[in-house]
Amino acid sequence: MTALLSVRDLVKTFPGRRGRTGRAGPPVRAVDGVSFDLGAGETLGLVGESGCGKSTTGRLVVRLLDPTEGSITLDGQDIGGLGPAGMRPYRKHLQMVFQDPHSSLNPRQTVARIISEPLLVQGASAADARRRAAELMDLVGLVPEQLDRYPHEFSGGQAQRIGIARSLATSPRLVVADEPVSALDVSVQAQVVNLMERLQRELGLAYLFIAHDLSVVKRVCDRVAVMYLGRIVEIGDKHEVYGSPAHPYTRALLSAVPLPDPAAERARERIVLLGDPPSPADPPSGCTFHPRCPKAQERCRTEQPLLRIAGPGTRQAACHFPEA
Ligand code: SF4
Ligand code: MG
Repeated sequence: MTALLSVRDLVKTFPGRRGRTGRAGPPVRAVDGVSFDLGAGETLGLVGESGCGKSTTGRLVVRLLDPTEGSITLDGQDIGGLGPAGMRPYRKHLQMVFQDPHSSLNPRQTVARIISEPLLVQGASAADARRRAAELMDLVGLVPEQLDRYPHEFSGGQAQRIGIARSLATSPRLVVADEPVSALDVSVQAQVVNLMERLQRELGLAYLFIAHDLSVVKRVCDRVAVMYLGRIVEIGDKHEVYGSPAHPYTRALLSAVPLPDPAAERARERIVLLGDPPSPADPPSGCTFHPRCPKAQERCRTEQPLLRIAGPGTRQAACHFPEA
């Protein structure tokens, strides 16, 4: 696979919050050395509990945030250090779909204006941008006659279709979708997922699909990366990771996903993790998962495990004692 996107040793540090004393706390490494590749037309799922750094990773990739360290390479060009002017030619290739469709659409703008915005920024004429907005409405299953309406006139599912149409306006090669269906009714989620899959086939899009719902990710992704406290702890082909998770954290996450067969659901072992995820402002030593890990041993307290091949395939896990 030649990578469309290569992310290497990505770090994002935020300043520490000020406490009651007025003194700033230690800086928070929200993303702490993340590396992955994404091929053209491929979907990589990015999963983990809230606060694990998956949304920050997505925002870094589309350069809504500046990385503190590391590289982001698109088609062989490192865009990680580019400023706004340097980013201009690359912006159109990288777009984002947000979690809450209504709050991500400007309530005072018509749908035509919202969808045209990225094209107008790229220098398209008003007439061309409007024509393209009408095509995009049709592409995402909405009627072009609704172009002059406002976001509040649409349901959540329709509003997310508008968000998707906006993301496609510039014909991007990669769309980062940050929890694109988790704010929607369950009945509507499948429709939006179907739409995203169809658009991927028709347009050859690559997706970085961020979600905490492992069932949705299992359905849409080719590969999956599991994040914990700013790091990827397991990454690989979806069948390998879902079929035989190597990292204790992945095993615990997957053991909480309901199984469709009630007998299998009753029979399976549920791994309950102790405590809450620790604060990224004060991460545990060694393997940062060790205070909650059912398999932790002495070595885990002091030595940080690196991602390496675990098992017969190509999947990698960051654990001293991965599941065979
Ligand atoms: Fe658990 Fe140790 Fe593996 Fe970390 S390195 S996941 S603490 S067994
Ligand atoms: Mg998030």
